[in-house]
Amino acid sequence: MNSTEPQIDRPNRRHEPSDNDTNVVLKGIGVSGGIAIGQVVLIERVTTEIFPQCMLGPEEVSLEVDRFTDAVKEAAAQMREIKKSMARRSPTDDHLYILDSHIMLLEDRMFFQGTKDAIVKDKVNAEWALSEIVSGIIKAFETIEDEYLRERARDIHFVADRVMGILTGGPAERKLPQLPPNSVVVAHDMSPADTAQLPRGRVLGFAIDMGGRTSHTAIMARSLKIPAVTGLEKITRRVFTGDTIIVDGTTGVIIINPGPDVIIRYRDRAELYRHYTQSLMPFGRLPAVTRDGAHSVRIMANIEFLDEAPVAREHGCEGIGLFRTEYLFMGRSDLPSEEEQLAVYRRVVEENAPNPVTIRSLDVGGDKLSPVLNLFPETNPAMGLRAIRLCFARIDLFKSQLRAILRAGVYGNCRLLIPMISGLQEVRRTREILEEVKDQLRRDGLPFSEQVPLGILVEVPSAVAIADLLAKEVDFFSIGTNDLIQYTLAIDRLNEQVNYLYDTLHPAILRLIRYINEAGQVRGIQVAMCGEMAGDPLNVPILIGMGLSELSMNPLSIPLVKKLIRSVTIEECQQLTRRAFKMQSAEEIHDFLETWLMEHFPNDHFVSR
Ligand code: PEP
Ligand code: MG
Repeated sequence: MNSTEPQIDRPNRRHEPSDNDTNVVLKGIGVSGGIAIGQVVLIERVTTEIFPQCMLGPEEVSLEVDRFTDAVKEAAAQMREIKKSMARRSPTDDHLYILDSHIMLLEDRMFFQGTKDAIVKDKVNAEWALSEIVSGIIKAFETIEDEYLRERARDIHFVADRVMGILTGGPAERKLPQLPPNSVVVAHDMSPADTAQLPRGRVLGFAIDMGGRTSHTAIMARSLKIPAVTGLEKITRRVFTGDTIIVDGTTGVIIINPGPDVIIRYRDRAELYRHYTQSLMPFGRLPAVTRDGAHSVRIMANIEFLDEAPVAREHGCEGIGLFRTEYLFMGRSDLPSEEEQLAVYRRVVEENAPNPVTIRSLDVGGDKLSPVLNLFPETNPAMGLRAIRLCFARIDLFKSQLRAILRAGVYGNCRLLIPMISGLQEVRRTREILEEVKDQLRRDGLPFSEQVPLGILVEVPSAVAIADLLAKEVDFFSIGTNDLIQYTLAIDRLNEQVNYLYDTLHPAILRLIRYINEAGQVRGIQVAMCGEMAGDPLNVPILIGMGLSELSMNPLSIPLVKKLIRSVTIEECQQLTRRAFKMQSAEEIHDFLETWLMEHFPNDHFVSR
């Protein structure tokens, strides 16, 4: 191929390398930003052989159960070994908890007891029983809408593969090939145990068939700042070890065997990206004060996992504006204990002190967590038994979370955020429960903070309509635009067919935000925003113009948003807001804000399109 431009992948390409194999572009999901140019190291897929079904005689059944139990014990021992060696290399590695969760999965009732029961009931060999049970669990996971939870099905695969390997006498460990410097790891999937074996410093990038934003590879790549693209589906069938490859983790593009001029172009881009992110990093350390010094904004981070907190601090967050606690309840069949929760909350609170950490109570429900909470399937989970409604229905679970949060408050500055409030009654009930929890903590003689402020996520239109009433009864508001837009514009945030209607700058949404902020200001309570809207520079001047003083966002957006805030004056933002409020459609407002930013700051890349 003579063309020097990358060619989009053609479906019937031959697999053998040929002249045509240069500049092949694949598109996946960019899960960790930056550009890597290196040599492919292809990690072969582990395929557990399908083992035939063998019927057992009555006297063989209990021996088979023992054989399975021993294999599970052996798998747990192996995983503890891996964890130990990982801990030796990197004692504070947050991914150790993922290995813990895998060890716990081995003891999972459905997995362990389910397989034993199947051996006994069906009088079949352990391999067959295990594969039947696992495929049942995986099927149940596949129907889950929540991406993070769906990803957890793969944890069960990793664990089952290990047990199967022991049962069948196959290799216990996937041996990773030697990694030369400048390696780009290409794999169908990577388990935490695989990633634990990777020599740090030699891996420049990841290109993975499976997975999305919340796969383990994605989480690890982000915290190690290694460019990564997942969800590539068939990249392992398109490359060979030694091929040159470009991974653009920002756009999700992979280029296999790029031509020399493409490499030069991407080297320039990689340099620019490094330069750009490095040049932005100092802004993270500066306060987000407008150019005229008249308005300051507290910039906070949204996190879901413990390992995001240090990255958030590096990027300049002034606290955690939203700690989504759902992950603590995921990938397991039991509920996290109060002590386990306390350990996690305490760590985040301590590490961020004296800055605030806003811990959101469990925001799951509908079909999201049925494996753990045994909830009934709902036809409309977004409007069903989720968030605070679920917490009221499972008061035991709610109280143990509240106890852990109040106890964590002793170690720093902790705030409690309640999702999906739709009326006053829910706030009052929450306060009552909080009082009961405090009484019990006193009786138990456990130290806790009396000062943990109670805030609500304003994300349901009814809460906006009574924001003035709610403001009298809570300590702060945090505007959850992700759901507020979904419920106000009647757009299912997971439905791709109506996604084009989802617009942060819809005049209805802007009016609601203004109203919420005014209601909060009248009562003198803090009004923050933690929906995705807050981290997009396009929206920032209008949010400031409306008077918001706390924005919480994806950690990586912080330096750019701070830079923007420091570039504008409050007067400019207010003027712009007045003009935008006279406009009648989202498109008009969009174009206006885009043009405004490009005209005022032509060299700053505040507008990504
Ligand atoms: C929101 O709804 O804006 C929000 C911050 O919460 P989540 O995206 O977790 O629902
Ligand atoms: Mg929400």
